Amino acid sequence: MAAHGEIGPMPDCAIFADTGWEPRAVYEHLGRLRDALPFPVHVVSAGDIRSDAIAKVNTTGQRFAAIPWFVRSPRGKDGIGRRQCTKEYKLEPIRRKASELINGKRRRGAVEMWVGISLDEAWRMKPSRRQYIVNRWPLLERQMRQRDCEAVLARFGWKAPKSACIGCPFHDDAMWRDLRDNAPEEFADACEVDRIIRHQPGIRGEQFMHRSRVPLDQVDLSTAAERGQPDLFLNECEGMCGV
Ligand code: SF4
Repeated sequence: MAAHGEIGPMPDCAIFADTGWEPRAVYEHLGRLRDALPFPVHVVSAGDIRSDAIAKVNTTGQRFAAIPWFVRSPRGKDGIGRRQCTKEYKLEPIRRKASELINGKRRRGAVEMWVGISLDEAWRMKPSRRQYIVNRWPLLERQMRQRDCEAVLARFGWKAPKSACIGCPFHDDAMWRDLRDNAPEEFADACEVDRIIRHQPGIRGEQFMHRSRVPLDQVDLSTAAERGQPDLFLNECEGMCGV
């Protein structure tokens, strides 16, 4: 919409924080965007979240669970792991790039950052935690829902895949089904990582990628609609993944 003058002013750039574990369709879409947009699309990264999760390190090389896997203790008590991935792999790399683009002159409000959250997920809207960044939500300003975004994209000849790590524990069952049915290699990869994380040093009990705490390749995904699973992300997300 910015490229077509429907949202203004024209951005100086877009920033995509790459966790290294997005579906192939997202990387293909990113490539098309970089070719088509009239402003640069910077790709930043804090490392490969998949291999870090397997090695159980974070982006600073310390040992802990970066992704909030679902946990079941030896006594059968359910919990969820520490949640640091969005901050480490998304927010911080984007902030670092924004700071670099203003040559480190981080005066109050120096950066206006647009976040593409639609009305369906308005609860993900959070103010910036850095005084030099002011967040703006252009889709909320226009009261746009996801279907409105899809309609606008279709009007311009685009169709966008949903961005999220392949093994994100915040996927709802519709997302898992979509991965299983349309990207079986990626679903198999998620199942493999799900097996690897089951027992990791420092974790009492078992970790799971799916909220049911059942191995991903054994989860009954067919009845999710009747169960009324929540949307793609729980409210834990900082609002920067999946946009
Ligand atoms: S998509 Fe999921 S796993 Fe990836 S950084 Fe965001 S919350 Fe973490």
